[in-house]
Amino acid sequence: MKTLVINCGSSSLKYQLIDMETEKSLVQGLVERIGIEGSILTQKVEGKDKYIIKENMPNHKVAIEHVLKALINKDHNIIQSMDEIGAVGHRVVHGGEKYSHSVVIDDEVLESIKECSSLAPLHNPPNIIGIEVCRELMPNTPMVAVFDTAFHQTMPKESYICPLPYELYEKYGIRKYGFHGTSHMYVSQKVAEVMEKDIKDLKIVTCHLGNGCSLAAVKGGKSIDTSMGFTPLAGVMMGTRSGSIDPSVISYLMEVHGYEINDINEILNKKSGVLGISGISSDFRDVLEEAENGNERAKLALNIFHYKVRAQIAAYAGIMGGVDAIVFTAGIGENSSVTRKECLKGLEFLGFEIDDERNSVRGKIQEISTDNSKVKVYEIPTNEELMIARDTVKLISNI
Ligand code: ADP
Repeated sequence: MKTLVINCGSSSLKYQLIDMETEKSLVQGLVERIGIEGSILTQKVEGKDKYIIKENMPNHKVAIEHVLKALINKDHNIIQSMDEIGAVGHRVVHGGEKYSHSVVIDDEVLESIKECSSLAPLHNPPNIIGIEVCRELMPNTPMVAVFDTAFHQTMPKESYICPLPYELYEKYGIRKYGFHGTSHMYVSQKVAEVMEKDIKDLKIVTCHLGNGCSLAAVKGGKSIDTSMGFTPLAGVMMGTRSGSIDPSVISYLMEVHGYEINDINEILNKKSGVLGISGISSDFRDVLEEAENGNERAKLALNIFHYKVRAQIAAYAGIMGGVDAIVFTAGIGENSSVTRKECLKGLEFLGFEIDDERNSVRGKIQEISTDNSKVKVYEIPTNEELMIARDTVKLISNI
């Protein structure tokens, strides 16, 4: 069966069509600038020229219509008609406490995803639009929602309850939810497979380091803690997000220096992290380059980043009573050997040694620890789309 995976953001949309017999991705596409002048759809198929549509896409409906058109375009010759799409898997950021697993979408499910929107006002609304438009355009195709929060629903109370008045949890659902769950689940399962071990016997720290960064402690195949929290702002420092800071900074800036809450949100989400410290860019490649050129603020930004990740790895090894494997994934984790090495510096006491030659490999499954290491360290490219497609096929085969 061919499964379409949709990841709908506020002004962008990523998609893949995966042949689930072979688990091969047939097409990868990206629509950018939805609702903004200069909309563009770029579709890639291995061995073929890119297929590009540059047309005004004022909303997600028009964008998805173009996606469907791109999928059946003659040059790429992937599918002849939409009927060949057996199912659609949608990435949904927030499933609240209700969803610890993926779910087949019906009216009731859609309603409860809408109810979770207040918890993820930037993310769930575009996810919902993607679902609604696909249901309208493909009324007979079964669809599944796969939640970023679901994998972390196994966390025990001591890791997800915030030390605030308990009523805030009961009344408003204020707690740690965690994100990037599909990625943490994928790489933890993959590392167990590569190590030829039963995941039930493993303690794994997974480090998803991309534009957003989060770590998870995965014990016996279950997430028992993760660094993002009530929202994806918490945890380690990121490209533009601060990660966890003393919350009093907010009231101080507002009361003493007259900042508005909108400014604060903008600062914490868009102007902090590696960008905020370096003053250069949120893109690690730019900051790494400037650090090499001797820029002190770039060096400081990277040092703080490494320090935060290092501390989080150590904390998770601590709460699990040890660690068998540490995994790096996502844009930075898969590609930057320097970042991996620096994030691990000083943690050798856990029982690993890094092999520099292995660590120089980029973007593929690779052990980067030496053969003698008791604790194994890996880089593993994440594949959230495949995970979404697998869940989609599994669930609709039960309908
Ligand atoms: P997203 O969270 O948006 O999916 P990605 O997982 O694609 O993000 O990660 C994007 C980050 O990965 C950017 O900071 C980018 O600089 C970084 N990155 C990509 N390639 C490299 C590389 N070769 N070296 C260092 N960082 C890289």
